[in-house]
Amino acid sequence: MAAHVLDEANRCLNCKNPQCQKGCPIHTPIPSVIQLMLEGRLDEAGWKLFENNPLTTVCSLICDHEKQCEGHCILGKKGAPVHFSAIENYISSTYSSKMVKGPASPNGMRAAIIGSGPAGLTIAVLLARKGYQVTIFESKDKIGGVLRYGIPEFRLPKSILDDFEYRHLRLKDIKVRPNTAVGGAISIEDLLRDGYKSIFIGTGVWRPNTLHIKGETLGHVHYGIHYLNNPDSFHLGERVIVIGAGNAAMDVARTAMRKGVRYLQCFSRDASVAASKSEFDYAVLEGVEFVYGKIPVEITDEGVIFADAGETEGTEKLYPADSVIVSISQGPRNQLVRTTRGLDADACGLLVADDSGHTSRPEIFASGDVVNGARTVVEAVAHSKKVAEAMDLYMKETM
Ligand SMILES: Cc1cc2nc3c(=O)[nH]c(=O)nc-3n(C[C@H](O)[C@H](O)[C@H](O)COP(=O)(O)OP(=O)(O)OC[C@H]3O[C@@H](n4cnc5c(N)ncnc54)[C@H](O)[C@@H]3O)c2cc1C
Ligand code: SF4
Repeated sequence: MAAHVLDEANRCLNCKNPQCQKGCPIHTPIPSVIQLMLEGRLDEAGWKLFENNPLTTVCSLICDHEKQCEGHCILGKKGAPVHFSAIENYISSTYSSKMVKGPASPNGMRAAIIGSGPAGLTIAVLLARKGYQVTIFESKDKIGGVLRYGIPEFRLPKSILDDFEYRHLRLKDIKVRPNTAVGGAISIEDLLRDGYKSIFIGTGVWRPNTLHIKGETLGHVHYGIHYLNNPDSFHLGERVIVIGAGNAAMDVARTAMRKGVRYLQCFSRDASVAASKSEFDYAVLEGVEFVYGKIPVEITDEGVIFADAGETEGTEKLYPADSVIVSISQGPRNQLVRTTRGLDADACGLLVADDSGHTSRPEIFASGDVVNGARTVVEAVAHSKKVAEAMDLYMKETM
């Protein structure tokens, strides 16, 4: 590993105008991190990564590097780009255990974070670094959001999230209230009553989009995000159809193949898949069959009837399956909008917030998927960095 990482680092041209950095949504200072490592200053390289992106280790594993940093590397024009993801993974995971700093000196103000996905975790860490007393409210039993309850272990080991919880949350005295959904027993108004100066909402998108076709409620039909939450509680049989062909659908298909499904067909309504190339390539390698240009018209006990996307009439055909998993993205739940006075959402239920996270209520901020719809981890982190600054400004101005 180390030899490979050093070989990759030595290939970097240390460009004056680094395209890799421009292609990274969070503008990781790639050439300077690489140079620090080559000079033997590994801890400084590690701190540079974490300072810019608290989820650097996660991003090193699950970002779409082909489209982002590596896809923009100048060396990629004529040959292989520098594989910065491997370098980032090596530096961040090596440095992580050295992050033992305790809490910053307290500034006397409390902030509440609702949701512990990439958006909430980023805000929590950035506000704690500034001395805020931070409490995270999480409806599930552990932190991480989609990182823990969506993305499978074979792509993102959960030990990274456990390490994150220890290094970034417990050591910095960030409190976590697990199994606590805000908008249920506790409301946002209760948090304000108890002295939280501002509140951040990063609740993501957890309501599966539905097909609205006959048969969708039958017993052998499931939604992708529910399946990934705990695949072992599902008994799919040998033959499975996955409807949808985005990255989440690839996770569903690849997990199901690992859990003993023998024959899995993934249906896309388009002529190609929406998933990233590497996820698609792995799915093909692992035995997933892709069928293109098909729209589901009905689900029966025997399987799914699809029609051609262009010409539906007369093209219907039954594709047999023991189980069907619908994975066509997600939308937000409306628990907080329903229970919070004056908190605006758009027609799809996404929270209305500007680029700095200001919602329709001055003391409430939001970012991540609950504002932007289903996107990516690095986008949630990048947006949340701006929002943490705006929350800091708001809380200091209203002290
Ligand atoms: C299957 C799947 C695979 C993906 N793969 C990738 C990938 O490879 N690379 C990539 O970059 N992106 C990927 N994504 C997208 C990425 O995971 C999301 O964009 C990202 O997690 C959004 O972060 P977030 O913090 O906004 O929301 P989430 O990660 O959804 O976190 C929201 C958190 O809020 C909690 N919550 C919700 N309501 C409440 C409430 N009322 N009270 C308290 N807590 C609440 C939830 O339990 C959850 O923990 C994938 C998404 C899915 C579904
Ligand atoms: S574009 Fe490629 S070669 Fe240039 S600094 Fe970035 S990683 Fe190095």
